[in-house]
Amino acid sequence: MQDTRNIIKEKLTPDSKLTFKCHPGIACFNKCCTSIDILLTPYDVIRIKNRLGISSTEFLAKYTYSVLEKKTSQPMIYMQLLEEETHPCPFVDVDRGCIIYDDRPAACRYYPVGQVTHRRMDDKNETPIHDEFYVIVKEDYCLGFQEDKTWTIEEWRENQEADYCDEMNREWKNIMMKQDLPRGEEFDQKRQTMFYIASYDIDGFRQFVFESRFLEIFDVDAVTLERIRDDEIELMRFSFRYLKYLLGIHEEIDLKPHVAEKQKQQALDRLAQKEAEMVARLAEAEAKKHE
Ligand code: SF4
Ligand code: SF4
Repeated sequence: MQDTRNIIKEKLTPDSKLTFKCHPGIACFNKCCTSIDILLTPYDVIRIKNRLGISSTEFLAKYTYSVLEKKTSQPMIYMQLLEEETHPCPFVDVDRGCIIYDDRPAACRYYPVGQVTHRRMDDKNETPIHDEFYVIVKEDYCLGFQEDKTWTIEEWRENQEADYCDEMNREWKNIMMKQDLPRGEEFDQKRQTMFYIASYDIDGFRQFVFESRFLEIFDVDAVTLERIRDDEIELMRFSFRYLKYLLGIHEEIDLKPHVAEKQKQQALDRLAQKEAEMVARLAEAEAKKHE
């Protein structure tokens, strides 16, 4: 478990300096890949499950656990560490280090830098403002801080190719930040499950869109449909629109205008049934994990 006391409480900017170097020859090699919370984003899941050649559903069941965020009840997922004495990440190899290095999660790319996004309202209390800054996580065992290499935080981000991950994750992070804004509705179990599927289980979400009555209810234009059918990243972006619909942030997906009220209700009922099936499937997968 990462100790928050090891976070240096100084807000850093992209121009702030960091003296640090990590390399395979260092005595603490791999230590940071044990007993640590690794938060995963939707884009992390897509990269890693493709790297492993498995479905997102399988990846989630085998390598992750979920936790409900206390304030918003939104499901967050973390890497499931191995039940060995040191609790290593399942992807760390004693000699080779990270075996999914090119597709490692954003949190691992940034380490020992932490990226913090803080939402506050403007002076008139009307518009939310997202403050983004960086912090340093300095564990006692990490010898990288004793190395003779200095970067700006921006140079470190570039070196770790964190920019592209940030771009992919930004919309989702914004959704997470805004989630407590709409209507103060309770985030019930069904919405938690659909939030989980739309956020993390891209293969389950594809099935939901193309194999339920989703497309009979929601007005998805032909260009979007073409894009999301074969392009996972486009499907991920579309899932963010669905998340906004689910959370009532914006009506980002319209219901079909020609769907008559009765048909609409029937279709919504069937969609709810599909959602219930997915909730049950997920509960079953969770139960199997604990057998
Ligand atoms: S994903 Fe790779 S870098 Fe991240 S903790 Fe696991 S082994 Fe270490
Ligand atoms: S220097 Fe720090 S980041 Fe690098 S392997 Fe050692 S503990 Fe991990």
